[in-house]
Amino acid sequence: MKTPLKLAVQKSGRLSDASLNLIKECGITFPTRIAKLKAHAFNFPMEFLYLRDDDIPGYVADNVSDVGIVGENVLLEKGVNLEVIERLGFSKCRLSIAVPKEFEYHGVQSLQGLNIATSYPNILGKYLEKQGITAAIHEISGSVEIAPSIGLAEAVCDIVSTGITLVSNGLVEVETILESQAVLVSRPDLESEKRQVLEQLLFRIRSVQTANNSKYILLNAPNHSIEEITNMLPGMRSPTVLPLAQEGWSSLHSVVKEDDFWEVIERLRGAGAEGILVIPIEKMIL
Ligand code: ATP
Ligand code: ZN
Repeated sequence: MKTPLKLAVQKSGRLSDASLNLIKECGITFPTRIAKLKAHAFNFPMEFLYLRDDDIPGYVADNVSDVGIVGENVLLEKGVNLEVIERLGFSKCRLSIAVPKEFEYHGVQSLQGLNIATSYPNILGKYLEKQGITAAIHEISGSVEIAPSIGLAEAVCDIVSTGITLVSNGLVEVETILESQAVLVSRPDLESEKRQVLEQLLFRIRSVQTANNSKYILLNAPNHSIEEITNMLPGMRSPTVLPLAQEGWSSLHSVVKEDDFWEVIERLRGAGAEGILVIPIEKMIL
């Protein structure tokens, strides 16, 4: 058995379920109760460390863990030197500056001289410096959105996803300073045996991600439309075409990208396709 690759994941919070689901989709099984700090995967050379997300970059940098799954917001704030191996497409959010809705905002210069509350002093500090703005940054660790109403600050810089929290606190988002999602990070100096395990894991993650972005599509079409439909549905190489029992008709099987899905369906119907079935794909190896 190879030396296990240590993977740090958030113990409980907005990254945990999606991180562990991704690992499960990679066919890696592990104990489901996260009562402990550590757990071994049953069928893959991997060990899990369940940590607070803020501690993950530091633990990876300090060799306690080899790789980790963390938000780009936390990674940048900690400023540690780690390699971003893959952007994972979940826990998407943004770091934004918001002001009370009565505030007359006329662009970043309106932030000059303000008190701004945030849990991200480093990212905010760099942003303000780049914009040539001097403001007082007040670091607070939680409930940043209430800072204006309690008189602590005139503006906030906080994580936003839907924006509901801001609105319900009477705030308006005025600047987005970072778009973030979960990333897989690694120590840059990983030993070759562990790097091999990481490559295996990455191969699986990419297969799952490609599959999640694609659908298997089956349809019936008159034979004279096959060429036109083939051009719309190139699939992995080219579609499978099988004759139907009914003369002059065929069944086509292919793969379509989730993003193009509705547009392609309309064009297919225009080309005479019928009985269109769309099926999720579990894994996809290109
Ligand atoms: P911990 O106890 O581990 O320190 P936390 O309270 O700091 O957790 P969470 O609220 O669980 O952190 O958020 C973890 C990460 O999830 C954030 O750093 C960010 O990358 C992402 N995130 C935060 N808010 C949202 C959201 N509303 N939607 C999606 N992702 C989010
Ligand atoms: Zn945290």
